[in-house]
Amino acid sequence: MTDKTGPHARDLLAWYDRHARPLPWRIGPDRSKEGERQDPYKVWLSEIMLQQTTVAAVTPYFTNFIARWPSVSDLAAASDDDVRSAWAGLGYYRRAANLHACARLVASEYGGKFPQTATALKELPGIGDYTSAAIASIAFGESVAVVDGNVERVFSRLFQFDTPMPKVKRDVSEHVKACVPVDRPGDFAQATMDLGATVCTPKNPACALCPWNESCAAFKAGDMERYPVKAPKKAKPRRFGSALVRVRQSDGAVWCETRPDGGLLPNMTQVPTTDWIKAETQPELDNRYRGAEHIGAIEHVFTHFALTLQVYRQVEDNPADDRSGWWSPPQKVTQEAWPTVMVKALKLALPELTATIRPKKN
Ligand code: SF4
Repeated sequence: MTDKTGPHARDLLAWYDRHARPLPWRIGPDRSKEGERQDPYKVWLSEIMLQQTTVAAVTPYFTNFIARWPSVSDLAAASDDDVRSAWAGLGYYRRAANLHACARLVASEYGGKFPQTATALKELPGIGDYTSAAIASIAFGESVAVVDGNVERVFSRLFQFDTPMPKVKRDVSEHVKACVPVDRPGDFAQATMDLGATVCTPKNPACALCPWNESCAAFKAGDMERYPVKAPKKAKPRRFGSALVRVRQSDGAVWCETRPDGGLLPNMTQVPTTDWIKAETQPELDNRYRGAEHIGAIEHVFTHFALTLQVYRQVEDNPADDRSGWWSPPQKVTQEAWPTVMVKALKLALPELTATIRPKKN
């Protein structure tokens, strides 16, 4: 591993000095080298806002919050409604509630000053491993590893870690920690984030512009996008079923039913189908439809299982109406509330009629 004044930190900080992104919550490298520290309130606010969201989306919200509530104590004194409505549009509203709870705690228990170590910060509402390390490092100069998704990707490539995610995080943290320079830990954290966001991107990393390209193992191997290695997906359990597309001969109308109110795809439209069961034996259609023509099978993957659905078609001379469904005429059938699995079945059974059909839900 590299020592604390190692070449990785030196090369990266030299790059950061030239290419740091100007961000409204950031003290740039020039001022930071002079020893100026960022306002912990701004670091905390930006980091909470940036969870699951982009810099571009966060910037106007951040600017508005700071204008309305310039300090953590101001934010603590704001009403729930004001904070909630200022947050509206950023999503994940639980974060807004945690943000406000955290501000109140810092104002009441800590005299309006954030605690200065990652360990103490992690005790506050809404602050986890990453955010506590980011605040401690950027605002207070603590020498801790700050590892977000960007940093995980950069270091997995730099050292060609073959351990899949999320386990690789431990190796990444150890190596990041070994690289953090004693004099500029906050700049190093921000530089690794910037490198991941602007150069070492998930697709087509700009390795020619990277300050670490001479030592990057994945770049040398020409295999950058393999890292970070993803854990193999678990095979989903498979279910089997049969579905019948009934067509009225006189006008080409298709028989539709509404799925039950609870369970999978509630209240959406379907053609008659058997239950979708786990056994390998193919469920058979109702006795009334034993003469239906077998057209083929479709595959569909739901969140918790994969489905093989045998598709049948039956053209009926003079079918009786009943209350379990309705006949949808050809000009209306594409507008019914079909989920994707049913669209696949219809396209197989009636390719010309349903060429333009679109699912209303997956
Ligand atoms: Fe990422 Fe390429 Fe730099 Fe390696 S050389 S860290 S793959 S940008």
